[in-house]
Amino acid sequence: MLFPTHLLVAAVVGRVSGLAPLWLVVGTAVPDVVDKPLATLGVTSLFHSVGHSALLLVVAVPLALSGRAGLSAAVGWALHLALDAVHVVVNGRAGDAVFLLWPAVVPADPLALPPGPFFLYYLWSPAFFLEVAFWLATAALAIRQWRAGEVSAETEWL
Ligand SMILES: [Zn+2]
Repeated sequence: MLFPTHLLVAAVVGRVSGLAPLWLVVGTAVPDVVDKPLATLGVTSLFHSVGHSALLLVVAVPLALSGRAGLSAAVGWALHLALDAVHVVVNGRAGDAVFLLWPAVVPADPLALPPGPFFLYYLWSPAFFLEVAFWLATAALAIRQWRAGEVSAETEWL
């Protein structure tokens, strides 16, 4: 899934839940902010590695138990992993979902594309169209709420 869509999903979840939108967005950004530079610099060979590993539950669970901000960040992180797993399955590469078990298990035939070539590969894929549909639905709902006067500045961002 594209990075801006991860951020949008986290913001929407923050809007409809009691979680802190800002910490949801921070948590959902972590996997790509950590893993993309590591792979770009050649530290890891995959663009889904430590930040995308479900083995980080050893960090996420205590974080989630630390309070509203920690829970929001942990949910944002888990949301990112879930959406990336959905994206590879929707695009017919279900075997790549084992990135969740990195480093214990690695995909047999990973794409291993850096962000630019990945974007070009991803355009017009089934998951790309799901993202477009999500953006359009979110925009339609936002416009509808704005027209109905339901938009308030009372959101607790932290
Ligand atoms: Zn990701």
